[in-house]
Amino acid sequence: MSDVRGGDGVRTAMTPLIKAIGLEKTFRTRGRDVAAVADVSLEVARGEALGIVGESGCGKTTTARMLLRLEDPSAGKIIFDGTDITTLRGAALLKFRAQAQLVFQNPFDALNPRFSIRRALAEPLNNFGVPIREHADRIDAVLHRVRLTPPAAWLDRRPHELSGGQLQRVVLARALIPGPTLIVADEPVSMLDVSVRAGILNLLREARDALGLAAVYISHDLALIRYVCERTMVMYLGQVVEEGPTKELIANPAHPYTRALVAAVPVPHVAQDRAQLPIRGSLSDAAAIGGCAFRGRCPHAMKICIELAPTLRTITPTRRVACHLEGTMS
Ligand code: SF4
Repeated sequence: MSDVRGGDGVRTAMTPLIKAIGLEKTFRTRGRDVAAVADVSLEVARGEALGIVGESGCGKTTTARMLLRLEDPSAGKIIFDGTDITTLRGAALLKFRAQAQLVFQNPFDALNPRFSIRRALAEPLNNFGVPIREHADRIDAVLHRVRLTPPAAWLDRRPHELSGGQLQRVVLARALIPGPTLIVADEPVSMLDVSVRAGILNLLREARDALGLAAVYISHDLALIRYVCERTMVMYLGQVVEEGPTKELIANPAHPYTRALVAAVPVPHVAQDRAQLPIRGSLSDAAAIGGCAFRGRCPHAMKICIELAPTLRTITPTRRVACHLEGTMS
């Protein structure tokens, strides 16, 4: 699949299932407005996976929550399957929620400890009005899909009887059982032992392929994103600073922040330049108002970076970057 770029965000050559245009989210903190997300646009088609990466506080989780309408955008628009869902309420919002499901980060908190697996899986079916006569077949099918078999051996167990990996399979089953077309996974394996992470990621990928789901993965882990996502968006302080095909972006990052992320994280089978200039400080050392938001930490900051905020510009037919160096570094 080839990407097609335009002026309003990541574009896919296929018809997008979900499209966000100019999303913004502002929170009021200590008497002033703080922009958690500013002018984020993206598209994801059925069968595609988009990764959103960045440090804690970069706005990736807020962006994901807006896509799912768990958070109302302060500005911008979200189009899902051809319908503007930005301000949906009531029954229409409930119908959208059945179509767009979240895979929770922490399986140890995601399930009611008093509910059996059967009841945990029946709950979303009840919430979305699926007739009771369909429940048993749906539960059986979804437990097969997440490889908790034979299903009868799992139905009456409670969360405390399951390992972390088994719990996350139930969490995935709960997300899949309403029959969504979009899955958003927020750090889906970060709370799990390394030994079971690949198994959960493979299940997610198999479900995406088999059911033709669109997927959005939120993570700080570039190795994970490289494993499961065709395209990646890097966020810094609420803004997109780079986007492009994942393998290309990791092999040849254009933005100094992406370069630092790639240099800091071991990514299998990718030659990494450990000699990269490290970024300074943390997100709390971010630059003041005006200019590039990354300038306080950037080893390449120039005079223009103080005066003018860079815009997201096309640097190749499939890549965009927001940096005055415009990807000319090598
Ligand atoms: Fe660094 Fe300037 Fe590029 Fe910002 S615009 S990332 S400060 S070089």
